[in-house]
Amino acid sequence: MAWNFETEPEFQRELDWMDAFVRDEVEPLDLVFNEPYDKSDEKMMSVVRPLQEQVKERGLWACHLGPELGGPGYGQLKLGLMNEILGRSSFAPSVFGCQAPDSGNAEILAHYGSEEQKAKYLKPLLDGDISSCYSMTEPHAGADPTLFTTRAVKDGDDWVINGEKWFSSNARWSSFLIVMAVTDPDVSPYEGMSMLIVPRETPGVNIVRNVGIGTESEAEALAHASHAYVRYEDVRVSDDHMLGAPGSAFVIAQTRLGGGRIHHAMRTVGQLKRCFDMMCERALSRSTRDGRLADYQLVQDKIADSYIEIEQFRLLVLRTAWLIDKYNDYRKTRKDIAAIKVAMPKVYHDVAQRAMQIHGALGISNEMPFSSMMVGAQVMGIADGPTEVHKVTIAKQVLRDYKPVDGLYPSAHIPTRRAAARERFAHVLEQDVADY
Ligand SMILES: Cc1cc2nc3c(=O)[nH]c(=O)nc-3n(C[C@H](O)[C@H](O)[C@H](O)COP(=O)(O)OP(=O)(O)OC[C@H]3O[C@@H](n4cnc5c(N)ncnc54)[C@H](O)[C@@H]3O)c2cc1C
Repeated sequence: MAWNFETEPEFQRELDWMDAFVRDEVEPLDLVFNEPYDKSDEKMMSVVRPLQEQVKERGLWACHLGPELGGPGYGQLKLGLMNEILGRSSFAPSVFGCQAPDSGNAEILAHYGSEEQKAKYLKPLLDGDISSCYSMTEPHAGADPTLFTTRAVKDGDDWVINGEKWFSSNARWSSFLIVMAVTDPDVSPYEGMSMLIVPRETPGVNIVRNVGIGTESEAEALAHASHAYVRYEDVRVSDDHMLGAPGSAFVIAQTRLGGGRIHHAMRTVGQLKRCFDMMCERALSRSTRDGRLADYQLVQDKIADSYIEIEQFRLLVLRTAWLIDKYNDYRKTRKDIAAIKVAMPKVYHDVAQRAMQIHGALGISNEMPFSSMMVGAQVMGIADGPTEVHKVTIAKQVLRDYKPVDGLYPSAHIPTRRAAARERFAHVLEQDVADY
């Protein structure tokens, strides 16, 4: 009997250490620094580096990676439990060396990169010395990559890239970008698109503007908005910047996005728990004439629904993590990853909204984190593909296990089934009739 919801005591000790470390040492960074990805910010890095050292000494650095790449190779289930803690803080993933999008970029560099590419881009990325960007979405098309038009044309030993990309997160802080481009327009997009590694300083990599999200003002966006609208204008890179085989961009993207999506979900569990803690504390702390908020049934209803939904979501995420470990093949868990991707924005929105409501005006104010959590929930329904597209994936995958019925009536049609059952038990039923 293999079902088990226990955490090994040794690993629980690590989780307890992480919990205290993130709470005491890392969460305060969120309140005074803006951007974990800007490695040129010496003040910020002077605080982050010693924390990273502590994590490395503890053997908890880059836990999404196997030992061959300097991580402990924990697998997704342990990572899930860890990310629930790291997800509480925007700085924590960077302090533990598993921040998106660098973790996904590292994963594909490790899988598909040449030895030279690994030395030049993967190593400093894993050491936490540089940041990276994944530049795929285009302004006119995000949810459907078959519509992408950014072109890379072979010119001698070089590729020349022209096109526009949208929401290329962290481009401004990155040392390199992984760009998805059409390299062969004469075949299907599934075979005619490639990934190219483009150093950020290459001439022609032009950031049109950095786009902020939610209520970020234009001034804030100028200072630290991280989603770049990038124009690639005659960007020239040599052939050895091709990541993997030409034409393999879709396969590479799937490798990357599968892991990315579940890691977002794991961190969202952390945000949900944080939200729930705030909700419960407020319910017990705030009183009206007739008693504490916690004593009202309509408030209890919000707490109970939130508890149930968080537990359901958490179990779905952990079970999916367990399945990934079991199969070690994202293709076999597409349906499950799509399911958590769909569930994530809804549970995050609903719990954040209830917590916000219980906090009254304070909840809506910029003195509490609920507005950004609500935007964060919406982000989870769009980034890495919109909810609608993932629902289609789930339905298609689920339907593979079914087949249509022969004949007019469904297989559950009661009169048909009853007739078959009567026939099966005819000898007994006839006896009954005879006994009367
Ligand atoms: C915070 C954030 C960070 C991001 N970071 C990156 C990054 O680093 N790199 C990168 O390349 N991209 C990034 N993205 C882009 C993201 O991947 C795209 O936004 C996403 O794929 C959706 O594309 P779109 O925005 O163009 O939406 P569209 O394609 O315009 O879709 C808009 C809406 O139309 C509907 N829709 C679209 N297609 C379908 C369909 N098939 N069925 C039903 N309804 C549909 C959905 O409601 C959908 O939300 C990021 C996005 C966000 C929000």
